[in-house]
Amino acid sequence: MDSSIFDKIQDTVIMAGHEFGQTAKELTGKAKLQYEIKTRENYLDDLYKELGKKYYAEHKDDEGESFTEIGKLLDELAKLRQELADRRGAKYCPRCGAQVAKDADYCGKCGEFLHDED
Ligand SMILES: [Zn+2]
Repeated sequence: MDSSIFDKIQDTVIMAGHEFGQTAKELTGKAKLQYEIKTRENYLDDLYKELGKKYYAEHKDDEGESFTEIGKLLDELAKLRQELADRRGAKYCPRCGAQVAKDADYCGKCGEFLHDED
């Protein structure tokens, strides 16, 4: 595992502390500590989530790795997003999730080529 990822997590947690510092000063004692803990837990969760997404993208085809549940959820999400986009008279970019016009050839957000299935 790349150790710089963990350095980055530590740096960003410290940055989050500064970012929330002003609000945290207004709290005292136990509430302040709970707030300090919660903000870092939330931020850490976000970072783990991003790390997990990167790991999945890089390793989803690896031998022996089992991402059955993730793959199933991604398929379900793609279908549900497409259904919602259909109802809105739009289509959904499979790469970034943006909604684009039904007749668009490319995603306006990420530039993905959108090949029509029909
Ligand atoms: Zn896109």
